[in-house]
Amino acid sequence: MKFTELPHGTSVKGEKIPAYKSEKSADKYIYILGAVHGDEVEGAHLALKLHEWLGETNEVDMPIVIVPVVNVDGYKAGTRVNGNGVDLNRNLPSAQWTPEAREAKYFPGTAPLSEPENKFLVELFNKYPPKFILSFHSWYPVINYNGACKEIADFLASYNKYPIEADFLTHPTPGSLGEFGPQEFKSPVLTFECPVLSDTVTLESVWKENEEGFKKLFTTKIIETFKA
Ligand SMILES: [Zn+2]
Repeated sequence: MKFTELPHGTSVKGEKIPAYKSEKSADKYIYILGAVHGDEVEGAHLALKLHEWLGETNEVDMPIVIVPVVNVDGYKAGTRVNGNGVDLNRNLPSAQWTPEAREAKYFPGTAPLSEPENKFLVELFNKYPPKFILSFHSWYPVINYNGACKEIADFLASYNKYPIEADFLTHPTPGSLGEFGPQEFKSPVLTFECPVLSDTVTLESVWKENEEGFKKLFTTKIIETFKA
């Protein structure tokens, strides 16, 4: 399927944030996001590989928006946070947003939606409303879903055997996309945490253990037709 490049966003440090939209348009879009946390290169790799495959395959034709690297400054610097030291996944204007952070790495910014990377995302959401958001991270392998997309979590877990969590009960994430997407856009959010690099984990192995599940998620159209 074909993608066109949308007008890019701009990071704190003035870097371009590339975004792509399928030629197919619709009322609502599937979003693929990578590197909201800049140092989570494993998740960014999955977003980039998925983009590459979708751009080549003739088996998929859906309304999709892709921002493979949201936090371009953090990605370049190898940091979780953006150029202002803000955790972008604690900076969205959800009902639970709080100025307090348990640790410095979760600094939510001085106000909700203070950061240009998140403003750009919300502009995209307003222009191309999300029906489902897939956001790639890396931590310990877990498929975290917020809103009505358990079917997708179950489907992916049947391939990669990662555990599923509806909420991080012991790990609250105020100002996260998982809160904001369902609240503001009635869009379920799948926060996909893949394993981090180690002696046995490589970017290639992370893609390999997820390739079939993600390709099937699109070619079977489950990502469009899923039910709560
Ligand atoms: Zn993350």
